[in-house]
Amino acid sequence: MQLADELPYALAAVDKTPRMLAELQALTLWHQQQCPAYQQLVTAQWPDFSVNAAGNHNCVDNLAQLPYLAVRLFKQLELRSVPQEAVFKTLYSSGTTGTPSRIFLDRDSAAVQSKILVKIMQHWLGKARLPMLILDHPGVISDRSNFSARGAGIQGLSFMGRNHCYAFNADMSLNWTALEQFVESYGEGPVLLFGFTFMVWQHLLQALMLIGRRIHLPQGILLHSGGWKKLEDQAVSNQQFKQTVAELTGISRVHNFYGMVEQIGAIFVECNAGHLHCPVYADVLVRRPGSWEVADIGESGVLQLLSTLPRSYPGHSLLTEDRAQLLGEDNCSCGLPGKYFRILGRLPQTEARGCSDTFVPALQRKDLSGAQAETQTGAAL
Ligand SMILES: [Zn+2]
Repeated sequence: MQLADELPYALAAVDKTPRMLAELQALTLWHQQQCPAYQQLVTAQWPDFSVNAAGNHNCVDNLAQLPYLAVRLFKQLELRSVPQEAVFKTLYSSGTTGTPSRIFLDRDSAAVQSKILVKIMQHWLGKARLPMLILDHPGVISDRSNFSARGAGIQGLSFMGRNHCYAFNADMSLNWTALEQFVESYGEGPVLLFGFTFMVWQHLLQALMLIGRRIHLPQGILLHSGGWKKLEDQAVSNQQFKQTVAELTGISRVHNFYGMVEQIGAIFVECNAGHLHCPVYADVLVRRPGSWEVADIGESGVLQLLSTLPRSYPGHSLLTEDRAQLLGEDNCSCGLPGKYFRILGRLPQTEARGCSDTFVPALQRKDLSGAQAETQTGAAL
């Protein structure tokens, strides 16, 4: 049985880690064989990481020894482990400037991505689809020309709810009529709310404060995602965010979650202890910038994400551009097994660039893109 078949928070390290290592090692090998650009990157950075005659890697006995790619490389290169014609869906990262990352999913990867998202979210929301208030405007998914990670995120999570209602108008002002109607119809029972963290703060909470109104959704569950940068700039802590949500909406169940387009399957939901908590499909490591050694528990460093799901593109082991702190493993006060951690913010741009530059020392970009043309049609799964 693969980790993807397990319940999301079912395994402690003693059971999870050996299986994760075996699956990630097999995935590394798969991507080395299917994606020449990946193979070149691995060879340049981990010259010892070769495949022996038996088709295995020498010298890997823990997760930290597996190769990892800087997430920025997905902006610069077309990294794909399936032939072009097998690409079923391309995901793009958010960000208003620069080239977005491109992530290529074949039919199987797209299916497993949805399946795992549902499994993780059902743990927190229950199995029933709840009436859903989307803290955004309806155009965010209907405007195809501007289809963004934000739209994709909303579309992905919409699947978890029913009777969808958008809380904002196109100009992001509060659609009070819609909001009032939603509260009247469903406010007594459990409901799901989803929005991007800053949108929730700015366009729901601040807007309610401004007009001096409150809504009452005592059984509501608020999921929010999208980074704290803008809220930090306004000196709003997670605790203050939750407190304001409780005061203005009556909602006490609030879960932030962290994940990135570049890595399907790695969705880290804030647990009842207020920590981002790893599901069995994914894991995290924190590395010291510069030496790239694994940091101690509690030490801040650069976050590396591992996921057993990416098979159509080599995104199973990624060095992010986020600073983080590992808080522990299998001893979170929420009672769930797994690692738990905290995001401390983005790396400064120069440092982030430095991370990815270490990956392409001897290689020319041209060589890498040229290598794409030679991608072999992969064997069937
Ligand atoms: Zn926890």
